[in-house]
Amino acid sequence: MKEKRPSHGAAPRSLAVCVLEALGLLLFAAMVLDAGWHLLVQARPVAQGRSQDAWLALLALLTLPAAYYLADLLSGLIHWVCDSFGNEHTPLWGPALVGPFRRHHRDPLQITRISLLENLGASALAGDLVLWLWSPWAAQAASSVPGLAWRLTMLWLIVFAVLSNLFHRWSHLPLARRPGWMLWAQRHHLLLNSQIHGRHHRPPHRLNYCILSGWANPLSNRIPWAGIEAVLARLGIRTCFD
Ligand SMILES: [Zn+2]
Ligand SMILES: [Zn+2]
Repeated sequence: MKEKRPSHGAAPRSLAVCVLEALGLLLFAAMVLDAGWHLLVQARPVAQGRSQDAWLALLALLTLPAAYYLADLLSGLIHWVCDSFGNEHTPLWGPALVGPFRRHHRDPLQITRISLLENLGASALAGDLVLWLWSPWAAQAASSVPGLAWRLTMLWLIVFAVLSNLFHRWSHLPLARRPGWMLWAQRHHLLLNSQIHGRHHRPPHRLNYCILSGWANPLSNRIPWAGIEAVLARLGIRTCFD
């Protein structure tokens, strides 16, 4: 099997993994569009009597900030798991998730040197699985505005969760490589701010786990991670920091 040249100190990536990630990304885009279309269809009867398009657009916009916050919190939880358990050789998720987080602690610019496919591929595959598990429930007709709003929030949340690695990557880009719009959005905390995220990069890497927008960091920093790890250790699930 052909192997791609390692450009970042990681094990070589096989062509099969690259193809799988590319298919995972394409499938994710298709599943998101399909889920969005189903939500649009479901919204018609819920929006009865109102200007449907404007009403739907407003609902989609209102659910955005909540989803952005929740996805940021989820990114922090996943980051904590990857920083604290297993190693890059752990089957399945080790090479795909644990390895990249650990390597980027040792070399913060490493995440900017990998391809976008490697940056987003594993997250997209995880997103495919979540969307597939969610689809039977999402296909049931929403009968109320809160039901529809919740489904919209969930769809945004899944999209943002997959994008979290991209926004994380952007926070590590050298300043000269960042376009003006990105600098503006990072300065105004619409994208992950580099200074805020930089605190995570100070050993022992226990602060500011959230890597999408950083909005949920004040909450994640209050979670007693060490206490949770101690409880898990008693259950036989031991931490592994490297
Ligand atoms: Zn970390
Ligand atoms: Zn980082």
